[in-house]
This record gives sequence, structure tokens and C-alpha cells, in this order.
Amino acid sequence: MQIIKNIEELRSIIREWRKEGFSVGLVPTMGYLHEGHKSLIVKAVSENDRVVVSDFVNPTQFGVNEDLSSYPRDIDRDAALCQKAGASLIFHPEPEEMYFKDNCTFVDMDSLTKGLCGRTRPTHFRGVCTVVSKLFHIVTPDRAYFGEKDAQQLAVIRRMVRDLNFAITIVGCPIVREPDGLAMSSRNTYLNKEERKAALILHKSLVIGEEMMKAGERDAAAVKEAITANIESEPLARIDYVEIVDAETLENTARIERSVLTAAAVYIGSTRLIDNFTFQPQG
Ligand code: AMP
Repeated sequence: MQIIKNIEELRSIIREWRKEGFSVGLVPTMGYLHEGHKSLIVKAVSENDRVVVSDFVNPTQFGVNEDLSSYPRDIDRDAALCQKAGASLIFHPEPEEMYFKDNCTFVDMDSLTKGLCGRTRPTHFRGVCTVVSKLFHIVTPDRAYFGEKDAQQLAVIRRMVRDLNFAITIVGCPIVREPDGLAMSSRNTYLNKEERKAALILHKSLVIGEEMMKAGERDAAAVKEAITANIESEPLARIDYVEIVDAETLENTARIERSVLTAAAVYIGSTRLIDNFTFQPQG
């Protein structure tokens, strides 16, 4: 698997691809790849002639007390997974390649980034929008693939592409889970045995909420309360948020009448995990 660390080198490869008339897909990741990432790559490979996987732990999307330095990294394992999934190359730049020392330009967004994860991670989406914009300019893909696991991120990217007129199709991909239901995440490696067991409470509680909606419950507060109470029954869990919002605007909603996103962030010990589901009422 070809690993490119240099922006100009990547650009010249992509220019050659374009001369051949190839379409290009991009899968942005922070590496330490798992089956969730792989599902995005496989989808991208099925829809594009060439696929770039970016593998970059982006410093600007981490808050000061977050896990930037301890975030897991293993480029050799990532390369093997990308090879298997059929990717064309990995873009794996150093932070100095992506950001000038005196970088002072950022892409920021109002409203959609203020709630959910944005409440406790106020600079996170500025970092995400900035790095994704940079990757879009560097790779100039036809399509870019993002997981529904990070539902707010997907909504933010869709909005950014619309607002800033990027000529790129954003493709959302379903959440891939462990056999017991835990959403796959590079951060799951932080969990010890006891925490790994406790982490299941997040998915289990969201399933309870989803079942309520399927059974006809339309009062968001009632569903939120049931999910919250269930998560709180796990002593190792500490809730960051449980929210039910409009799936497109991410604004709070009292009634479940349109497509809604139910999202939660929960600390298990010191590891912060997120999960969600989208529900569309029928009729
Ligand atoms: P990350 O490396 O965590 O920044 O994730 C890179 C991309 O993979 C993002 O678009 C994520 O939403 C997506 N992703 C991460 N975990 C999963 C999962 N369990 N299922 C589907 N997509 C995922």
C-alpha cells in the first residue's frame, strides 16, 4: 500500500488519475482503523475508480485537555486494512505538512456546532471543518465518505459543503457495531475489561428509546428520560448529554414528528463514547 506524506506528491498523483478520467473517492480518518472505517472504504471503492484514505490525527479538533497525545496510532496495521479493502493509497501527513506554524485561517460554523458534542467540545467542529476543507482542496474528490456514527459531524459536513459550494457528494454510511452492539471506535481500545462491559449501556439505552418511538411515543422528553435513567443505572457511566434533535437542523425538538436524531455521549471511566440512532415516524 502506497503511503504518501507530502501534499504536492499526492496532488501530482491525483492529476495523473484525472488525466486518465478516473473518479476519486476520499475517506477521511484519524487512523487506527477498524471495521467501521473499512465499511466506508469498501463503499468508496465500489463507487469510485480511485480511493484515497486520509490517516491523520488532526490536532486542531482536539481540546486542550483531550486525548491528542494518547490517541492510538498504527500506520502499518492501517495500511494492511486499506490494502484489503481496495484503497488506492493512504495520505498520512505529519501535522507540520498540514499546518503552517503561523496558520491563522479556520473554517467555522454557527448553529449546528453549538449543541450536542459542540457544547462540551467548543472548538472541535472548527477543527473538523478546517481539516476536511483542506483535504477537499488537496484531494478534490468526487465523493467523500463519512460515518453516521459521528452524526453531528456528518450533518456539519453536509452543511459546510452546501454553504461553501464544494462540488463534492457526501455519502453517509451506517454505524458498524461489535457483535454485542457497541459501536466500533478507535477509542474503545482505552476501555479495560470492566469498562468494556459497562460501555454496552450506551447502545442498550438507545435501543430502549428507539423501541419507545417505534411503539408510538412522540414525547421527546419521555424518551430522553427513559434513556437517561437507563444509562444512570450503570455505575461506571457518566452522562455528557442525551439529546433528541431534528435530524437536519440539529435543533431541539419536543415532539417526534419529523426525522429525529437521538444522540448521546457518555463517559465510561475517563473514556468518552458517542452513539446515536435516527428515527423517522411513518405517515
Ligand atoms: P475517525 O477515525 O474516528 O475520525 O473516523 C473516521 C470516519 O469513520 C468518520 O466518518 C466516522 O464517522 C467513521 N466511523 C468511525 N467509526 C465508525 C463506525 N463504527 N461505523 C461507521 N463509521 C464509523
